[in-house]
Amino acid sequence: MDHFLYRDGELFAEDVPLREIAAQVGTPAYVYSSATLLRHYRLFDEALSSMPHLVCYAVKALSNVAILKLLGDAGAGMDVVSGGEYARAKAAGVPGERIVFSGVGKTREEMRMVLEGGIRQVNLESEPEMLALSEVAAELGVEVPVTVRVNPDVDARTHAKIATGKSENKFGIPIARAREVYAEIAQLPGLKAVGIDVHIGSQLVELAPFEQAYRKVAELTEALRADGHTIERLDLGGGLGIPYTRSNEVPPLPTDYGALIERTVGHLGCEIEIEPGRLVAGNAGILLSSVIYVKSGEGRDFLILDSAMNDLIRPAMYDAWHDIVPLIEPAAGTQSQPYDIVGPICESGDTFARARPMPPLSAGDIVAFRSAGAYGAVMSSEYNSRPLIPEVLVNGDQFAVIRQRPTYEEMIARDSIPEWL
Ligand SMILES: *Cc1c(COP(=O)(O)O)cnc(C)c1O
Repeated sequence: MDHFLYRDGELFAEDVPLREIAAQVGTPAYVYSSATLLRHYRLFDEALSSMPHLVCYAVKALSNVAILKLLGDAGAGMDVVSGGEYARAKAAGVPGERIVFSGVGKTREEMRMVLEGGIRQVNLESEPEMLALSEVAAELGVEVPVTVRVNPDVDARTHAKIATGKSENKFGIPIARAREVYAEIAQLPGLKAVGIDVHIGSQLVELAPFEQAYRKVAELTEALRADGHTIERLDLGGGLGIPYTRSNEVPPLPTDYGALIERTVGHLGCEIEIEPGRLVAGNAGILLSSVIYVKSGEGRDFLILDSAMNDLIRPAMYDAWHDIVPLIEPAAGTQSQPYDIVGPICESGDTFARARPMPPLSAGDIVAFRSAGAYGAVMSSEYNSRPLIPEVLVNGDQFAVIRQRPTYEEMIARDSIPEWL
């Protein structure tokens, strides 16, 4: 559930009419709901309440510092995958003890940064990375808590670009090699194994793949303990999917997911970490966009919007569906008509939807893309020299711009012309 609902015939974000935000901030713009973000974080927190746990929000889903502060102040930990995300989490006031560092290719500079700034644990993804971290930690004279991300060879049954738990994917080490790797860690200076990490993919709409993976992690926990290792933490990753449309089947709820975790690994007495991103942020954000033109083509009408694939790349990248709704609620009985909904970018891939049934719309009308909070703004670019669009955070009846729309001058100022030119 979210807090973007029609009231008195128009779409609101919590208690703010979106029309008002569009008028003040302009379109396109991302708008987020504090109440929805907090609600989703708390659903996970409550779902794990029977076990010691930390919900580490996956920063990559939506990484604006104001969002991180909102969640961090509510008690969330953070899962970061780069030095930049670590810097954002710290800038939001999240202490290092609540930040876990994931990612396939951590550089030594990034390792130094988190060891100096404080880190709860580093999730290792390969043996070369393990050796590098050992060297960096030994140089700094510290011992860093680590887990090894194991690849359980489980089919997450999601889009190929976001499946990460099959043996052919680049992530983690094969689970069959785990005992050898933990034995190596025990011999290396600067590293202290504390647990196991697994993350099998994103936008999972069923629990079975999680169950398969977590059972393998439970078995491995027992094997590693028998080998004499201390396994006291299990980082079970993120990946729980969200409904992108109301008509589809509804993915499992955080409560079902929590019950599954308890059933599969609860008996081990470990502290549980999870790293949800999409489910926290996805339905907590919308993308506001105006119709620039309605163009009649051959056998189809195009809605040409002022937002484009550079602002929201999910449809082009993952063939993703987003519900697109007008700010003004259509009167009961309004006949819908099919539109191809596109942006102004010079690529056919800049298409948000084809033959999408919509109420009749005209130039100047405003629409909202639902479920655009996660992997929206964070994946945007300035392709076609379209400046990054603003982000707005709503809280009850107030709202604030949490990222300004840059001017053309600001955008261009990042380039420089060499003296000799
Ligand atoms: C992307 C990612 C997540 C978050 O995935 P969601 O599908 O957004 O919940 C968590 N952990 C790791 C390691 C990731 O790469």
